[in-house]
Amino acid sequence: MIQSETPASLIMIFGATGDLAKRKLYPSLYHLFQRKKLAKHFAVIGVARRPWSDEILRNHVKDSVLTSIPDAERIDEFISHFYYQAHDVADSASYIELKNLATKLDQNYSLQGNRVFYLAMAPEFFGTIAEHLKKDGLTDTEGFHRLVIEKPFGHDLESAIELNKQIRNVFSENDVYRIDHYLGKEMVQNIEVIRFANAIFEPLWNNRFISNIQITSSEMLGVEERGGYYEKSGALRDMVQNHLLQMVALLAMEPPIKLNPKEIRSEKVKVLRALRPIKDTEVPNYFVRGQYGPAEIDGKRISGYREELNVNPDSNTDTYVAGKLMIDNFRWAGVPFYIRTGKRMTAKSTKIIIQFKDVPMNLYYNSDEKLAPNLLVIHIQPEEGITLHLNAKNTGQTMETTPVKLSFSTNDIAGYNTPEAYEKLLHDCLRGDATNFTHWDEVALSWQFVDKVSQVWESHKASFPNYEAGSMGPKEADQLLEQDGFFWWPVTN
Ligand code: NAD
Repeated sequence: MIQSETPASLIMIFGATGDLAKRKLYPSLYHLFQRKKLAKHFAVIGVARRPWSDEILRNHVKDSVLTSIPDAERIDEFISHFYYQAHDVADSASYIELKNLATKLDQNYSLQGNRVFYLAMAPEFFGTIAEHLKKDGLTDTEGFHRLVIEKPFGHDLESAIELNKQIRNVFSENDVYRIDHYLGKEMVQNIEVIRFANAIFEPLWNNRFISNIQITSSEMLGVEERGGYYEKSGALRDMVQNHLLQMVALLAMEPPIKLNPKEIRSEKVKVLRALRPIKDTEVPNYFVRGQYGPAEIDGKRISGYREELNVNPDSNTDTYVAGKLMIDNFRWAGVPFYIRTGKRMTAKSTKIIIQFKDVPMNLYYNSDEKLAPNLLVIHIQPEEGITLHLNAKNTGQTMETTPVKLSFSTNDIAGYNTPEAYEKLLHDCLRGDATNFTHWDEVALSWQFVDKVSQVWESHKASFPNYEAGSMGPKEADQLLEQDGFFWWPVTN
């Protein structure tokens, strides 16, 4: 049941000394505390390998909060709720110690046995930790036990099934919160509101009026120091299997009969089931892969992917993907959903562009004699908002048209400070709201779709590098749309 107030709970963060905890989880927990969205009764145990003390963890948490919120109030009160436990994930003795500390905090803070286990660690440990949590008695309390897992959830369908089995031996599906932090983003959550709370969009939201949908998630950075991880993953597994397919599902799903996790997930699952399967030989018609090469930008040499730290100099890993997805159902038959994502691209931007069909006949003439199509642009990041591109009359004694834009941006709302995705997701999890977490069925269907492409790619070596750092990707990605009579709308619009 979803609770309106956050209940008392003990949060255990496995991987407490890591990057994710420092950059995202501590500042997000602090924001919840500051906005009074954490229960008065809460405690956090940081769990990791290093032999830290409570004191060291508290200072670490304080630093991490002050880095993003320099004027954080009541910070000492906040960090007093944190405790540290040095831990070896494979050793039962460690879990017994952890259990003893948890029991003590449970009593001291009146936490009613409610526990959230947040696994901010490398995925190879997820299964082992889940098994030990049960075996060593950490789930033997009254109250709820929820497992929060970071991506990646497996590296293909087979490994995801294996991991899911291990986890489900301990936690029921309802208690597994698989994080896809895109689902915590303000404008991703806004997709369903824009669609289902406005009478003007939903009647047009189909193949009669929409010609194509484009989703771009581009980064300017390269792999930085994450080369080792990225070599085993690549853009398809790192971005498409989860974030991009989740956005496709939200854009394409039918209106749910209720706004609850079960109904929304069931509609998303139907979209993923309707994705047109791709045969091996057809993969090049639907998907393009890329890898960035070196370039000179503003007089500075930028390394190619193969020169990055911990990357094989002959690497076949994709740092860019463009794809065309077809959803074979009544609503979307014939409407391509184009997706692309990559590193070292021209701009950092996540944007959805819905292109409407042309009016049946052009009565007006622009200087270039073509009416621009209507576009609905959903800006996910870094800007947040929507823009509707229309044609209007040019002022003066003329009937020429001119493109105009109606824009709404959350940045323009005074005092409106969009919460971080992690803040919203942590809050949801503590209240038992799994709507914005991925259900196993979604994970399985996404892997099934993506595996087909990666299997074909793994069996053929690509001629990489094929796009320059600082560009919008390989030319084949442009051809993917050109062959259908479309082009990628610039993301800088
Ligand atoms: P990290 O390498 O910075 O931290 C790993 C943590 O795990 C450390 O606290 C370390 O002490 C602990 N650890 C490792 N081996 C251990 C062992 N044997 N016993 C006990 N503790 C051990 O990793 P990270 O960047 O924080 O990422 C954690 C997870 O979150 C990964 O699954 C990653 O894919 C995912 N993730 C990270 C980010 C990010 O921005 N960093 C974003 C999305 C997802």
